[in-house]
Amino acid sequence: MNCLRIFSLTLLAAASVVAPGFSQQSESQPSPPPQVRSFDASAIDKTADPCVDFYQYACGNWVKENPIPADQVRWARSFSLLAERNRYLLWKDLNAAASHPKTPLEKKYGDYYAACMNTDLVNQKGLQPIEPAFNQIAELSDTHRLAALVGGLAEQGDPVNLFRFNVQQDEKDSSKQIAGVSQAGLSLPDRDYYIVDSKRFESIRKEYVEHVTKMFSLAGDSPDQAAKEAAAVMQIETALAKASTSRTELRQPENRYHIYTLADFEKLTPEFDFALYFKDVKVAPFETLNVATPDFFKEVNELIGSEPAEAWKSYLRWHVLHTFAPNLPKAFFDENFSFFGKTLQGQKEPTPRWRECTTMTDRALGEAAGQEWVRENFPPAAKASMDKLVASMEKAMGEDIKTLPWMTDATRQAAEEKLAMIRNKIGYPEHWRSYAALKVERDDLIGNLRRDTVFQRNWNLGHLGKPVDEKEWDMTPPTVNAYYEDSMNDINFPAGILQPPFFDPNIDPAVNYGGIGVVIGHEMTHGFDDQGAKYDGKGNLRQWQTDADKKAFEERTSCVADEYSGFEAAPAHGEVPAQHLNGRLTLGENTADNGGLRIAYLALLNTLADEGKSIDEKIDGYTEAQRYFLGFAQVWCQNQTEQSARQLALTDPHSPGRWRTNGSVQNFDEFGKAFGCKKGQPMVPENSCRVW
Ligand SMILES: [Zn+2]
Repeated sequence: MNCLRIFSLTLLAAASVVAPGFSQQSESQPSPPPQVRSFDASAIDKTADPCVDFYQYACGNWVKENPIPADQVRWARSFSLLAERNRYLLWKDLNAAASHPKTPLEKKYGDYYAACMNTDLVNQKGLQPIEPAFNQIAELSDTHRLAALVGGLAEQGDPVNLFRFNVQQDEKDSSKQIAGVSQAGLSLPDRDYYIVDSKRFESIRKEYVEHVTKMFSLAGDSPDQAAKEAAAVMQIETALAKASTSRTELRQPENRYHIYTLADFEKLTPEFDFALYFKDVKVAPFETLNVATPDFFKEVNELIGSEPAEAWKSYLRWHVLHTFAPNLPKAFFDENFSFFGKTLQGQKEPTPRWRECTTMTDRALGEAAGQEWVRENFPPAAKASMDKLVASMEKAMGEDIKTLPWMTDATRQAAEEKLAMIRNKIGYPEHWRSYAALKVERDDLIGNLRRDTVFQRNWNLGHLGKPVDEKEWDMTPPTVNAYYEDSMNDINFPAGILQPPFFDPNIDPAVNYGGIGVVIGHEMTHGFDDQGAKYDGKGNLRQWQTDADKKAFEERTSCVADEYSGFEAAPAHGEVPAQHLNGRLTLGENTADNGGLRIAYLALLNTLADEGKSIDEKIDGYTEAQRYFLGFAQVWCQNQTEQSARQLALTDPHSPGRWRTNGSVQNFDEFGKAFGCKKGQPMVPENSCRVW
């Protein structure tokens, strides 16, 4: 899945990023955030030259006047402010449902939210909710019983993150839903944190081991025992990190597609009884599966042979403790925040509890709570005008494909066919998911989390062998994001992003095309980015470009990759070297940004022509063309802690706001024309890149 912004859900992430915990301090009542303006002249830094640094020009004043709030690590003008607003509106529904539910469904999500908010009960219960899992782990005496233990923990919804198992579409036959296993098992944000030889990572590793030790001590282990356990955790996680495929390599579908018979997979991992595990998680029988990362499973197998049962017990205990830490008593919460929030990401204060509980409820019961949210915040008229906008974008992309200089007619025709087959999903699902099988108890937070894990897994595994349901969504309605799915060839826009400042029925078309127009174009272009272009219109991995066109395409995507690798995510200071972007990790997103900016501009020209207006017409002192580029740039105004910038440069396939803006305008001649720049100025370089 390719999405618009950070924190995407991805089934194949190399490591799970654990969000920092939340505050258990006294809670201030949330207050309604204002609606964000679509176009903000006061954000502009008029002392900056748009032709030298357009991001600084469009966002400079906003960046100066909007420091990162203490409970955030990144603060973005559009994304953060709209997400705050959407979350507040959702909170109002949850809070009302928690005290006066009107329907059984409202009672369910109201109770889920209320259980999360009850930190007094969390503190009172202590570690009692996770003791059964600890006791099961303590009984492991022989590593040959590891699969039985892991399966048993998974069955009851305890976190076992050693690997990932789910049902997914077959990359080569998207009509089929098959089983798949992939790498996981790490606690730090990426494998690099374990294996890269640098002062910064050495120090993070040292602090991580200290943190794990403290957590074991808090759980009641003696200092010696805690230190020994932490060392075992680090040893196993480091071995798993070394055997993990990098995020950049994992972006390539051919690197994560290895169909095994069940028998061959069991031969790959004789030390771990997968048949038993599959039985425990109650998946229907199957004959073949996709082993995304065979080398990783080889290493898991070797580790089971080489690490003693004691080490595995420490590893499993850690993952239970770590995963539940934000929902355990205050001492655990604080220690977890101190390392995963403060040290790793530079977050000063924990996220307020109401905010985390709202997010958690949205994650668990999003299509239940989202129903009310949509009724209140997404009128039918908004959907109708979004349909029109998407149609205008599809037309513009068709025109763009017709005029591309590097394509032969055969490839052009295939691209047009793929474009015509893209399905659009706007706002919210036609059919809401049923939560009947999810039991929620108002006085059992950890139990709810466990039951939710089992519920979500059963839902996913239930797809095995069934026809694909094109109407399912991967994001909940209030989400400020959008995505394109390669195997579905569809673009998806939750109601949460179809709001100001992205989409504003009361503003001139230039600003709307710079906002939601570029978002739509971004998602459409994902179908044609360096990885998306490997799939045909049906969502199957199949080459549809001629060999010569494929070569020309790869030369063009390489130009983008090299360009973005030159951009800095964090500057050098003292002995700490600069952190550059990884142009190959971010290539799909950057290609989508570049394509989106170009296509939305074409669609804007068409719209203005239909209305008999000119792109040079001025509104409030800026031409329509300038307002388009400013509207686009102001989506990306942001402040970010250095720690978070460095972390995301390694883990996030999206570039930071500055480069999403400057990188895109540098590659589009119309920008230079709109601001009267001269060829050779930084935003109008002699050599620029263009794919679509
Ligand atoms: Zn994207």
